[in-house]
Amino acid sequence: MLGYNAPGAGEVSSPKRDSELWFEDGTLELIVEDTAFRVYKGLLAHHSAVFKDMFTLPPLPAPNIGSAESRSVDGNLVQCAVVHLPDSAREWRYVLRVLIMGGARGLRERVSRPLDLKTEELLAYIRLGHKYQIEDLCQTSVKALERHINPLLLSSSLSPWDDHPPFFDATEAPVVVNLARVVGECSLLPYAMLLCSRSVYPKFTGVFSYSDGTREPLNKADEERCVQATHHLVLATISAVHSVILPPVGCTTQPLPGKVPCQQTMDGLTRTLLLAVTSPTRPLDPLMWDLLRHDSMQAAKSSLCLRCWDEVSGRVRQQRRVVWNTLPTIFGLEDISGA
Ligand SMILES: [Zn+2]
Repeated sequence: MLGYNAPGAGEVSSPKRDSELWFEDGTLELIVEDTAFRVYKGLLAHHSAVFKDMFTLPPLPAPNIGSAESRSVDGNLVQCAVVHLPDSAREWRYVLRVLIMGGARGLRERVSRPLDLKTEELLAYIRLGHKYQIEDLCQTSVKALERHINPLLLSSSLSPWDDHPPFFDATEAPVVVNLARVVGECSLLPYAMLLCSRSVYPKFTGVFSYSDGTREPLNKADEERCVQATHHLVLATISAVHSVILPPVGCTTQPLPGKVPCQQTMDGLTRTLLLAVTSPTRPLDPLMWDLLRHDSMQAAKSSLCLRCWDEVSGRVRQQRRVVWNTLPTIFGLEDISGA
């Protein structure tokens, strides 16, 4: 737990100084795993309500609380508090860097260039921002992560329901789900859980590897929810594909010589596309991001008149929205659907 420690008290091995976040005149040493960061009390107290309280309230009389280290810097006596934290050094490195750059204000500039920002950075800002009440950083990062993974919030010149999935690496989905649970940000759950579903993504491994080699699996309860959701996902996909291809197109365009009428082309799609829903290697995604690019759909496109192709494309987007709205129910997240 948190607490001021006398330097060296009860430590098994001495931590290594971080090569980047170590300031000789620093007033606060954070010991995280085997790393020591030396920064400034004022920096942490300014951004974090938890550190502010820690430095203003008198320390509790507990055996792990010792006096701060005093040392001389340029002839001045500097008091340096030592705090042991039960977190990840990788995550604290990200957070300290961003706090030195101005906290959420510095982050907002980088958020506007999402490709510069690794998801694991955002996860660190959210996890530690929530835990240590660095509210601005936490909220800015949650919004940035939502924009990464929610197609409704895609900030691009494309229509939000155009045929491009969110630019989000599916291997990161398990840790997004875990973190959403820890910090209570349920809006992140439905799409992240869809990406954790093997019925949709057969290559899903269930474990994410961070850049420092730490591996984190999807939590058991949500893994179970994803398994339970399997047949609901298949049914939702079949229903959506049905609604795209089965209603008559009502075409009045005369087919070109050598071409079949549009309705006949649509009828021919039924079997191939419904079989594709449960393809063991490349099943159709319930949100149908690839449906219009599917081989049989592309073949149909060359036969359909422009008006019918537009109608079919519009149906895909409409059904994508229908499926999106049912994801909370499919994954047993009804209690958060209004969140
Ligand atoms: Zn037509």
